[in-house]
Amino acid sequence: MLLDADARRWLADVTFSRVRYEEPMSRHTSFRVGGPAEAFVAPKTSDELSALVLGLADREIPYHIVGGGTNLIVTDAGISGVVICLKPCMSEIFIENISSSQSRVTVMAGTSLRLFCSHVIRKGLKGMNFALGIPGTVGGAIRMNAGTALGWISDVLESITVMYPSGLQEMIGRNALSFSYRKLMLPQLSCGKTFSHQTIIISGRFSLVRASSTDLKHEATEILKNRKCRQPATLPSAGCIFKNPLVGKTAGELIDHCGLKGLKIGGAAVSVKHANFIVNDGSAVAADILSLMDSVRNTVFERFNVNLEPEVIVIGN
Ligand SMILES: Cc1cc2nc3c(=O)[nH]c(=O)nc-3n(C[C@H](O)[C@H](O)[C@H](O)COP(=O)(O)OP(=O)(O)OC[C@H]3O[C@@H](n4cnc5c(N)ncnc54)[C@H](O)[C@@H]3O)c2cc1C
Repeated sequence: MLLDADARRWLADVTFSRVRYEEPMSRHTSFRVGGPAEAFVAPKTSDELSALVLGLADREIPYHIVGGGTNLIVTDAGISGVVICLKPCMSEIFIENISSSQSRVTVMAGTSLRLFCSHVIRKGLKGMNFALGIPGTVGGAIRMNAGTALGWISDVLESITVMYPSGLQEMIGRNALSFSYRKLMLPQLSCGKTFSHQTIIISGRFSLVRASSTDLKHEATEILKNRKCRQPATLPSAGCIFKNPLVGKTAGELIDHCGLKGLKIGGAAVSVKHANFIVNDGSAVAADILSLMDSVRNTVFERFNVNLEPEVIVIGN
């Protein structure tokens, strides 16, 4: 336990008593597993967020940012410190027409990526259809450089605005951002303390071009139909569990060739529909998923000498 009585009193003040203790993270992850967050807060405004992170950094209390929790495994032991969930707050979309063919769209980090994609389709703006069907928030998608075979977030992003633990905000242009496969390296700004706190994405600015809304809708229907055929949609998961190796077969092909589809540990199983998905049959705990990941990695390494790297982020004690 990192939060003493004094820290709890301060947290109640700064969050207007909207702090929850021992909040099960299984409620906030698409895998539906994970132990309790010592404290869980969903700030309503960026001023509230800034007061919160500044105070936490000052007190050297760790915090962890969560968006939609769709790329996360929280361990069964849970998370010490404060989980800050951005989903309910900061979900606005602003469109600015910069020419007859181009628009600049600023999207707050807590906005659902699905909502953003469907909004720009309705407005006749092209560029986001590649991301159709990816769950989670815009902030999470930027941090994960989310994408599909049709494109990545980094292809359409113009800039981001971040908040440092000092509460200071900065806009960073795409050329200064270091994107790689399923990762954006966020800049860190020291706040003079030894504890390293996470930089927070507040919003992203996207450059989209005008197109026919009807054509975009047709394309969207095809993309979503395709996804539905390939991915397990009914059971809890976190999407692809491993990154694809940079060359050669995909992670799914390697796992499939090892005959691992359907392999089960506890309530976690390698999906029979898509070998790079692990699904929760409803009874899994995080330890089941982590053991299954180890087992899959070991088998793939023994058979193909390829070390699969997790795409999901594991957090917790
Ligand atoms: C069924 C299913 C299908 C999926 N398909 C795809 C796919 O096709 N392509 C793909 O790329 N991914 C896919 N995913 C994975 C996941 O949806 C994406 O990675 C998504 O972008 C994560 O967003 P999130 O808001 O849920 O992030 P979270 O899971 O909440 O967080 C992921 C990481 O981002 C950090 N983070 C979140 N928000 C912020 C912020 N505002 N500032 C700083 N850091 C932040 C968190 O601390 C964490 O480290 C899929 C997942 C599921 C469940």
